[in-house]
Amino acid sequence: MRTSSMLGFLAAGLAACIGAAIATRQAATPPGAGATNQHEAGRPIDQRAVLPLTPVRAPEGLGDRALEHVRTLTEFGQRHPGTPGWTRQLEYIANTLQALGLTVQRDTWTDRKERITFTNVWTSIPGRRKERIVLACHHDTKCMQGHPDPAHNFHFVGANDGGSAVALLLELAPVLRATERDATIDLVFFDGEESLDWAWNDAARALFGSKRFATQHREKLLLGEEARIEALILLDMVGRTDLHIQEELYSTSRLRTILWSAAVACGHRELFFRTAEAASDDHVPFLDRGIPAVDLIDLVGNPHWHKATDTIDNMSGKSLHAVADVVLTMLPEVERAYVLRKE
Ligand SMILES: [Zn+2]
Repeated sequence: MRTSSMLGFLAAGLAACIGAAIATRQAATPPGAGATNQHEAGRPIDQRAVLPLTPVRAPEGLGDRALEHVRTLTEFGQRHPGTPGWTRQLEYIANTLQALGLTVQRDTWTDRKERITFTNVWTSIPGRRKERIVLACHHDTKCMQGHPDPAHNFHFVGANDGGSAVALLLELAPVLRATERDATIDLVFFDGEESLDWAWNDAARALFGSKRFATQHREKLLLGEEARIEALILLDMVGRTDLHIQEELYSTSRLRTILWSAAVACGHRELFFRTAEAASDDHVPFLDRGIPAVDLIDLVGNPHWHKATDTIDNMSGKSLHAVADVVLTMLPEVERAYVLRKE
């Protein structure tokens, strides 16, 4: 993904969904096809400038338990809005969180133009302070039906793209609940991330849930009805066997440094930041509203992305566990930087 000849491939290929602006570590290129936000992709961080973070290990077996959640979710079938699998998955998310004693909130609405009903689900784990850090994912899978090109219509499992991050948040919930911390942690499961068109088309028909959540947050904040979201950590496709989380260049630079430092502290640096490219995703509506955000996404070079091969066979509990380590290691520093506001 580093040569100019790859740019054409990316424009044709990656622009199909999570829109990708392209910047390589050697030479940054301005946002191109698929860039949806008002700001530009940032420059890659200096990987030599590592913060001395203390590794926080995920509990033993967490990755394998997350993989079992993925298996269950995929058994529900396709999970785009309106499908039986989508309904069952929403129930599963809510039931799993409620079983931990957490209060689940839902926001269901019908998009008037699309005539599709979406549901965002979330829960809040109170900290010493009311300021919030959001851990988020999307729960919908891409609809692979009704597209003009027959090659785009097939049975899509969405084990990684959809399933992995939902599963990981469900497994992080009890860990976070058992930990005293400064920030309030929200776990948010957005609906409607995937583009209704086959192509990403500047997110014109995508990011429904995150756009709505971010807009509602701004309104409630102005009315004093809820505490500020100080930072957002987004997970998207975090369970592939050959996991590689790119450095996503729309993400806030300081959060990218914290993410990289956490990966180094945990001994997982080989899974992170070998490529640096921007990707439009659920974090963008938050960035657009001035909320710092970082996207942990395995898009560049992912051979199963939006393919029939995005199945449980190509998933690994080890990958899920490594991402859990890194997220848990990031959190104290994210709190320090964005909630306690220490330099
Ligand atoms: Zn997708």
